[in-house]
Amino acid sequence: MTEAEIRQLIRQETRFRTGLGFDVHPFEEGRKLVLGGVEIDHSHGLEGHSDADVVVHAAMDACLGAAGLPDIGHFFPNTSEEFRGADSLVLAREVTRQLQQRGFEVINLDVMVLAEVPKVGPHRDAMRANLADAFRLPLESVALKATTMEKMGFVGRREGIAVIASALARQT
Ligand code: MG
Repeated sequence: MTEAEIRQLIRQETRFRTGLGFDVHPFEEGRKLVLGGVEIDHSHGLEGHSDADVVVHAAMDACLGAAGLPDIGHFFPNTSEEFRGADSLVLAREVTRQLQQRGFEVINLDVMVLAEVPKVGPHRDAMRANLADAFRLPLESVALKATTMEKMGFVGRREGIAVIASALARQT
């Protein structure tokens, strides 16, 4: 392999970038619970400026991170009336547009939900479908898993839900 070929290979490989996202929202009585764009029947919803969809928020930050862009607070400030009660899936479509504008496409998304309640399993595929649609991914490229925190910490005390997400993007 020539030096030029090696350089070309490195250039191609650096077109792939990973991104990490994390978010937390506390439970609040009297609010609807929206996770991954799915409205879930539960005693509490999540507190937040938008619909407080902690799953979509972490996923957006992972995708933005992969493109080397700032966090969702930069694009959708929680001081803006425009985003009060916002449907986070609409914001995710805007993130996808921002990435496309910069020549990035998301390759896959992996989401880990940390929640003591409610049970995420029954809603998993609906949430995956919503994320796939918002980030323009095939369904099989969106993974979503859930775990409890074994009754430890704020998640374990049922005070809120935390989500970690990872994304791979390619600069087209
Ligand atoms: Mg959030």
